[in-house]
Amino acid sequence: MANDQQAWAGLGPQLAGRLAKLDIRRPQDLVLHLPLRYEDETRLTPIAAARAGAPVQVEGEVVSCEVTLRPRRQLVAQIRDASGTLTARWLNFYPSQQKQLAPGRRVRVFGEVRGGFFGNEMVHPRVHPIEAGEALPQALTPVYPTTAGLAQSALRKLIGRELQRPPMTELLPAPLPGGLQLPPFAEALRTLHQPPPDIDPYALEDRAHPAWQRIKFEELLVQQLSLRRAYNARRTRRAPILRDNGKLTGALLAQLPFRLTGAQARAVAQIGRDLATPHPMQRLLQGDVGSGKTIVAAMAMLQAAENGFQAVLMAPTEILAEQHWKKLAAWLEPLGVGIAWLSGSRRKKEREAELARLASGEVLLAVGTHALIEDPVALPRLGLAIVDEQHRFGVRQRLALREKGADALHPHMLMMSATPIPRTLAMSYYADLDVTVLDELPPGRTPILTKLVAESRRDQVIARVRDACLGGAQAYWVCPLIEESEALQLKTAVETFETLGAALPELKIGLVHGRMKSDEKSATMAAFSAGELHLLVATTVIEVGVDVPNASLMVIEHAERFGLAQLHQLRGRVGRGTAESACILIYAHPLSENGRARLKVIYEHSDGFAIAREDLRIRGPGEFVGARQSGVPLLRYADLEGDADLVEPARALAERLLREAPEVATQLMERWLGGREGLLRA
Ligand code: ADP
Ligand code: MG
Repeated sequence: MANDQQAWAGLGPQLAGRLAKLDIRRPQDLVLHLPLRYEDETRLTPIAAARAGAPVQVEGEVVSCEVTLRPRRQLVAQIRDASGTLTARWLNFYPSQQKQLAPGRRVRVFGEVRGGFFGNEMVHPRVHPIEAGEALPQALTPVYPTTAGLAQSALRKLIGRELQRPPMTELLPAPLPGGLQLPPFAEALRTLHQPPPDIDPYALEDRAHPAWQRIKFEELLVQQLSLRRAYNARRTRRAPILRDNGKLTGALLAQLPFRLTGAQARAVAQIGRDLATPHPMQRLLQGDVGSGKTIVAAMAMLQAAENGFQAVLMAPTEILAEQHWKKLAAWLEPLGVGIAWLSGSRRKKEREAELARLASGEVLLAVGTHALIEDPVALPRLGLAIVDEQHRFGVRQRLALREKGADALHPHMLMMSATPIPRTLAMSYYADLDVTVLDELPPGRTPILTKLVAESRRDQVIARVRDACLGGAQAYWVCPLIEESEALQLKTAVETFETLGAALPELKIGLVHGRMKSDEKSATMAAFSAGELHLLVATTVIEVGVDVPNASLMVIEHAERFGLAQLHQLRGRVGRGTAESACILIYAHPLSENGRARLKVIYEHSDGFAIAREDLRIRGPGEFVGARQSGVPLLRYADLEGDADLVEPARALAERLLREAPEVATQLMERWLGGREGLLRA
């Protein structure tokens, strides 16, 4: 240990700083810094046999070496072996390079040849001066991810030295779950850092080689361990016991205009059981757009109220929060249950009145935006916190909501999401949550017809909107997303509103966007809900949650700019009633490859899970989950899509280790995370 520390300390602050940029902070982190690719310097190619297309290594004697000034300043050397002569050329070079290439020296040169004016040449090859008869390396040469100021050769030397150092303790028990056969840790690392020349280069490149599998498995295992640890830690905390005595929940069910779907009933029962335990619930309720999550939330809130505890529902936008409030109030007021509504832009007086109602205990339930987590809001008896569209909130906001519970009791947490997560991803990123899936839509929904229309046919779309609206339907018109500039986005929304107004004088048209005053916004939404407006021109403020069942036509302009989850959410604003619904996606050329791929997916699929799977394929998992927000340590090597078959055994082993060998779990986490366990999630 002392030796390790010294060796590391001996590096000097500059080198240590550069290594830290690569997330190498301790000597043992070096061996987990794995190559991007390899170069084969274990064999030589005769100069005459070198062909363009792949890098080769040749060995020969320097015939000449000089700096020429035409066509521009460069270092040019001639190298000769028994078969022929090669020109090597450097446009940037150091004087020391010229010395290495003194005529008469033997050198090995590694690079790709191409046919030049004067025969075969290499541009910027790597040069390695040698003694005659010097042996070739026995292993492929690793190429590492590196950073400015840190040469490959220096990194190789540091890593090579660390590999020599015993011990690289084997931490996995045998046998592994799922019949997995993987090499030991030390052997896998050696194979990856110093692969023997006869190794299958494709397996190495594709990271399918057992050595790669072993490392990726261990990485996934550590991810599972840290998530399970966080989960278990929370299970040791105390939460209020909220029994389901059925008084209010039963009354709500009795007066609902519909019956719960089987999936909703199962979710309500599962959540009800969680709430009745003395430990905080950590549950994710996943259900596709329109699957009816709100009523499940309402039932849980009532269960808290029945026990004299507070419950809050936090939504990401004001429009959504207000809509939830109205819907919940309509359901709950007949039962004599009050519900407060908090949002940043409500008038000060109104807000203060709501705060007072909450503080006095007159009302136990509240709905709001992130205003709920702001300072003046006191929720001393918070028993349940629900986050709608949870992916729209960061870790910190979810934590802040939890911390609203004043005393030693932690509130139960329910996260809701309409962005379905494929199973492997859920197992990985949400391993610290229990998951309930609403896998059934309420009956009577009609499938939504999706159409792709080129921008040149915008007039036809306008005509269609006119016909639909005059026929009694209502429509949304979503303005183009302009990510770079909010100001430009607003301008476009206002312009769209004006041009549509001019083109459709016979229709009543409203406009909503994020910068409107909240009473204007809510007045417009209310008018649209009440059927007083035919057409609602909107920015993406209506993206999530908005529920106006009579609306049956959705038009999205510049659909190619939107993400898949967004398109699916927007499309989900229609198809909520019994009328046949359609979604028209207007796109403009030129389409990027990704844009085209997204439109194809949204056109071909209506199931949120299928769309999420395709989204994952197009974007990769990190971006998909918004990993930065999720607080889960990112995977460096494993890839949840490609290595899906390793996730289940990793999860199984993680559970076994935590039960039977927690000290091994700690050592594994120490090895990979070095104490950086990532943010625990709310
Ligand atoms: P989401 O899961 O997207 O949040 P909502 O909770 O907004 O879905 O529900 C969508 C619509 O379906 C709402 O109008 C809601 O009242 C209605 N709804 C919910 N559950 C049922 C049901 N079991 N039967 C009929 N309609 C339902
Ligand atoms: Mg919703």
